[in-house]
Amino acid sequence: MVANALIVAAITLAVSVFVFRKTLIEILGGKGLVAILYLIALLLILAVFGGCAFLPAESVYKSRHKILLRGQLTEYQARELDFLLDIFSPKVLQSIKSISLNDDFHHYGPKYISGECHFSGDICLKSKYVNDSGTLWHEVAHAYHYELNRLGRNFEKEWLRVAGDVYGKDSPDWFPQNGLLTKYSEKEYMEDIAEWVSEFYQAIADRPTAFSKFYDWPFRPSINSDPRYKAKLELLRKYEFITEDDYRRFIALDIF
Ligand SMILES: [Zn+2]
Repeated sequence: MVANALIVAAITLAVSVFVFRKTLIEILGGKGLVAILYLIALLLILAVFGGCAFLPAESVYKSRHKILLRGQLTEYQARELDFLLDIFSPKVLQSIKSISLNDDFHHYGPKYISGECHFSGDICLKSKYVNDSGTLWHEVAHAYHYELNRLGRNFEKEWLRVAGDVYGKDSPDWFPQNGLLTKYSEKEYMEDIAEWVSEFYQAIADRPTAFSKFYDWPFRPSINSDPRYKAKLELLRKYEFITEDDYRRFIALDIF
C-alpha cells in the first residue's frame, strides 16, 4: 500500500510540474525544476524497488483477532493463522499491526529467512511458513517486544542483564547452552527473546521443542545449574509475554 502511495505521489508531482512548469521555472529556475524531476524519479524507484517498506494489499479474509491480514492468503491459511494466534493473550495480540503473506524476495534481508517482524509490528511471512507455528510465534514475540520498547518498559534492559555477554559468538553447535535455547538465539538478544517465546509455546502446545533436551544427559545437569533459564522465564512472565495459566502449565512440565 505504501508503494501505491508513492506512485500516486510521483504522478501527482509530475502532472503538477507539467501544468505549472512556466511558473516553476520563474520561481525556482531550471536547476530547481531538474531537482523536482529527480525527486519524481526517486519516488518511482522507491515504489518499484523499495522492498521492505512495502506491504501487500489487504486480504479478503478477516482475522477473528481483529488483526489486519494482507497478501494472497487462502481461506484455509487465514483460518489456520487465527487458530495459531489463539495461544496468545489479547495484550500480546494487540501489538501486531498486520500479518502479511509476502513472497516478494526484495522484501527480506537474508534470503533464507522464513519471516520477519518490522519495528512497526507488521509481520511478513513467506507462504511456506505462513502456518508454521514456530515461525509465527517467533515473529509475534518480536512484535510484543518492540511494543514494550515503545512503551519505555525495562524489559530489554533486564533481559540483557540476565543474559550476559553471550551474543554474536560462534559457540559449538550443541544447544541449549549459556541460557540460550537454539543456535539462532545466539545471534542477538532479540532473536534470543523470540526463540524463547516460540519454544515456550511449542512446549505448552506439546510440540517438539529445544526444551526436550533438558531432560537428557549431558544437558540436564548443566542446565539445572544455570540460573539464566529460570530468570528468563520469570522475565517473560513479569512482562506478560506469557499468561499466568501458561506459566503454570510450563512449570508442570518439570523441565527445570
Ligand atoms: Zn527473529
